[in-house]
Amino acid sequence: MKNTIRKKILVTGGAGFLGSHLCDRLLSEGHDVLCVDNLYTGTKDNIKHLIANPFFELMRHDVTTPLYVEVDEIYNLACPASPIHYQYDPVQTTKTCVHGSINMLGLAKRLNARIFQASTSEVYGDPKAHPQSETYWGHVNPIGSRSCYDEGKRCAETLFFDYHRQHDLDIKVARIFNTYGPRMHPNDGRVVSNFIVQALHNQPITVYGSGNQTRSFCYVGDLIESFIRMMETDSGFTGPVNLGNPQEFSILELAEKVIEMTGSSSRVEFKSLPQDDPVQRQPDISLARNTLDWEPVTTLEQGLEKTIQYFHELLISSEGSESV
Ligand code: NAD
Ligand code: UDP
Ligand code: UDP
Repeated sequence: MKNTIRKKILVTGGAGFLGSHLCDRLLSEGHDVLCVDNLYTGTKDNIKHLIANPFFELMRHDVTTPLYVEVDEIYNLACPASPIHYQYDPVQTTKTCVHGSINMLGLAKRLNARIFQASTSEVYGDPKAHPQSETYWGHVNPIGSRSCYDEGKRCAETLFFDYHRQHDLDIKVARIFNTYGPRMHPNDGRVVSNFIVQALHNQPITVYGSGNQTRSFCYVGDLIESFIRMMETDSGFTGPVNLGNPQEFSILELAEKVIEMTGSSSRVEFKSLPQDDPVQRQPDISLARNTLDWEPVTTLEQGLEKTIQYFHELLISSEGSESV
């Protein structure tokens, strides 16, 4: 444990994949963590190991409604993140991004608290610039099926910067690129979880389109480290800053790697490509390297190994309980 002053820190979306890892990290540094989550995509399973900790508190609450609590810092992560989940109720997704941000910004303003926003590489849409740096304004369809998330997150960034300019709020905006690791949802349709679960079941690996589209995958531990560093920068640094792993892989390469690492007998099955699926995505992380002195250290193989292990145990325990 670092020798830090115990701060009261609010993590919205703290029962989700990234949020639960962030709660772990903040508690390990000696902070007092308030996890606010409506458990829409998050689960108590992700945080059950924290429930007995007196410095951890779970509050079931929807951030689209006002929240009156007393904290020193805020991490705003609440929002469904996978296409299946954010498209299930797109109006609620936009509300969570926009009304949720307004409420958390209003809270931060009243408390004069530093506030972190989990933005996304999706603000770049289907990018025409490659790799994407923070100065690129993006190529987003405003009326497509991904728009509730992309435009919601873009509007949230606008709100963060307007509260900063208008009310001198201390903001930190991070544009997160594809991240994976333990506690991803097994059924949320994201590529890493899908491929691993399919491979562990020896089922076909569903590659959408040709599989030549690319993504850059960051391991969750590396990402959480960047959040902490971002929050520790001085108030002159607002971001937006790209956070992700610049190592780019095609989806087909990922499929082959997962098959190999799980020793699966699965074969690749090609399916149609979803609408507005970005062709290429790779972060330019020069700004993060320079300002946060940060870069990912976990290789795809190392990260996949831990994630495969996690899903392996999850599947064994869920299959065990089904047979009971
Ligand atoms: P997740 O779905 O696991 O976590 C989101 C959490 O927010 C869940 O616990 C959910 O229950 C909660 N939530 C949703 N709507 C809410 C609401 N209205 N009120 C209160 N809680 C609500 O997703 P994640 O991958 O952990 O993503 C966390 C954040 O990071 C999101 O804001 C997402 O947009 C952003 N992000 C994630 C990735 C990634 O690769 N995982 C990439 C870019 C951005
Ligand atoms: N808000 C909140 N908690 C607070 C302070 C404000 O949830 O501690 C919400 C409140 O619902 C408000 C929103 O944040 O609508 C924006 O607050 P702000 O002070 O910026 O605007 P105003 O209250 O003037 O609408
Ligand atoms: N994808 C795929 N098979 C799957 C799930 C996803 O080929 O079973 C592809 C998807 O079309 C996209 C990429 O993998 O090109 C990443 O998808 P994901 O939903 O994980 O993230 P995002 O599209 O939001 O970057």
